[in-house]
Amino acid sequence: MAIKVLISVDMEGIAGIVHPAETNPERYEYERGRRLMTAAANAVVEGVIDAEPTAEVLVADSHGPYRNILPEELDRRARLIRGKPRELGMMAGLQAGAQVAMFVGYHARAGASSAVLAHTMADAILDVRINDRSHGEIGVNTLLAGSYGVPVVLASGDAAACEEFSALVPHAVTVPVKRGLGQHAADSLHPEEAADRLRQAATDAMRRYDDHPPVVASGPLHVEVDVHQPRTVDIAALMPGVVTSGRTIVFDTESMAAAYGMLQLIVMLTQLAP
Ligand SMILES: [Zn+2]
Repeated sequence: MAIKVLISVDMEGIAGIVHPAETNPERYEYERGRRLMTAAANAVVEGVIDAEPTAEVLVADSHGPYRNILPEELDRRARLIRGKPRELGMMAGLQAGAQVAMFVGYHARAGASSAVLAHTMADAILDVRINDRSHGEIGVNTLLAGSYGVPVVLASGDAAACEEFSALVPHAVTVPVKRGLGQHAADSLHPEEAADRLRQAATDAMRRYDDHPPVVASGPLHVEVDVHQPRTVDIAALMPGVVTSGRTIVFDTESMAAAYGMLQLIVMLTQLAP
C-alpha cells in the first residue's frame, strides 16, 4: 500500500524570509513570502515522490491563517490541507492516517537565541512546558505526531530550529536554510539552493524513515503555558479543568491531541480583542 506522508509547512523558517512584513497577509512583502513558501513545499513533495513514486502526499499549510500556499502553484501530486480552525492544527493529516511527517519552514521556540522570527504558537505565549520540559512548535508537533505513532523524519528552518529538532530526534535529517543573526536578521541560502537541498533531503529521509521511532510523551501530560497578558489568564481560568497562577495557565490531560486542542484555544484567547 502506498505510504502516506504529511508535510507541515510553516513560513518563518523559509529561505530568504526574515521579517513579519514577509509573513503577515496584511503586509507589503507577503505575496513574495507565500511564493517562496510554496516553492519550498514543492521541493519536498518532489523529493518524497522521487524516493516513493506511489506516495500519497498531504501538504498542511501551517502558518498564520493556514491560507498561504498558492493552491494553483503547488505540485499537483500533493493534496493541500488549508484553512482554520481545524483539529490538530499544524499537524492536520495525522488523523487521516499519515505514516511519516516532515517539518518545512519551521522556527525555533519563544526565547531561543540567534533564531529568526522565534515564537511558540503566538507572540503572546512566552513558553509551553509539557511534563516540565519546555517545547516550541517543533517539540509540541513532534510529540503530537508521536502520539499517533508517526515519526518526524525531516525538519527544515533556520539553524536554531534544526538544533531544537535534533535535540529531540537525534540523527534525523535536517536542512538549515539560514543562520539567525537576530529575531529579524539572517544569513540565508538562495531559495533555489535551499530547494535543491530540501529535495535531496526529502529523498534521503524517505529512504531511511524506519531509522527514527516516533517520540512519545510518557504518562499523563501536565501542561503549563506562560502568557503575556493577565487577561488571557483570566479567560482561560473560566475553562473547566484549568488552574492558573500568575501568568501561567495549567492543565492536565491524557492525550497530546487534547493538549494540542487546548493550546489552540489558548492561542485564540491571546488574540481576542480587549
Ligand atoms: Zn508561522
